[in-house]
Amino acid sequence: MIIVMRPDATDAQIQAVDERLKELKLAANVSRGTERTVIGAIGDDRKVLTETLEALPGVERVIRILKPYKIVARESHDRDTTIRVGDAVIGGKTVQIIGGPCSVETPEQMDSAAAAVREAGCRLMRGGAFKPRTSPYTFQGLGEKGLELLVNAARKHKLPVVTELMDVRQLDTFMKYDVDVIQIGTRNMQNFDLLKEVGRVDKPVILKRGMAATISEWLMSAEYIAAGGNHKIIFCERGVRSFETAYRNMLDVTAVPVLKRETHLPVIIDPSHAGGKAWMVPALARAAIAAGADGLLVEMHPKPSEAWCDADQALTPEELAALVKTLRAIAAVLGRDL
Ligand code: PEP
Ligand code: MN
Repeated sequence: MIIVMRPDATDAQIQAVDERLKELKLAANVSRGTERTVIGAIGDDRKVLTETLEALPGVERVIRILKPYKIVARESHDRDTTIRVGDAVIGGKTVQIIGGPCSVETPEQMDSAAAAVREAGCRLMRGGAFKPRTSPYTFQGLGEKGLELLVNAARKHKLPVVTELMDVRQLDTFMKYDVDVIQIGTRNMQNFDLLKEVGRVDKPVILKRGMAATISEWLMSAEYIAAGGNHKIIFCERGVRSFETAYRNMLDVTAVPVLKRETHLPVIIDPSHAGGKAWMVPALARAAIAAGADGLLVEMHPKPSEAWCDADQALTPEELAALVKTLRAIAAVLGRDL
């Protein structure tokens, strides 16, 4: 980091900063200019709180040079990381589409959903058993029973499953049902205790972007998971809150190239919770793959009008199959397959 001293900083104040840096085991390189002095602190300063240095007399500002995240940074791992889930590889040449209903409802709904997901050419299935709903009076998910229905339907159609974990107390149940990929939803992106727990298990994690989170905060949340030892993290952009009311969330497609530069981990997009309407999903999905996303998380229901949750944004099985075909053509232009 670089410590910029105020123009009127005294020699004693500069000396005090130099001593504090030594205490922090950082080497100091003092450079006296005509107008001000800047001090370069050399060493790993990620654990140093800039505020404590900024509070020293004579200090104007402290600028970090090192990125605050380490394991997830592209700097630490130049090549793209690929994550295997069953027969599917996420983050490689193949674009992966994760399809399925918003929530798990009945054995029949799950069986036809799984068949449709497979038929459309998707290699993974989604379905929520524990649902984070805005209203406590709406359907909250089937809970453990939902995990069982999801896993049974998906296994029958040879699809690995993705499902949301809302609370650390559900983690053992997720392990019991051998959930293939744990989803951390937008509302929990900064639930640090939850992130620490999924950091300890050997399961890939889809980390959705907080609805008002910066990319840097999102990367730090991923670092929480990685710091616990679990490096199998997939970023999922799902739209952010904006001033616009014509759609549910504003899909930040720019996040794809930015993340691809900042991290070696896979990046996928959820066009369903972004647009919030089924008719918007194909356009957003096409934009996502064209922008370089490694896959999509898409909501599809065998009968959208009967869905217990997010009915208006669910594709029909036919719409999902048609979308996959179009995306295959876009992926091919980019030298990828699907
Ligand atoms: C979901 O994928 O079911 C979901 C609730 O998404 P989000 O956390 O992005 O709102
Ligand atoms: Mn949903």
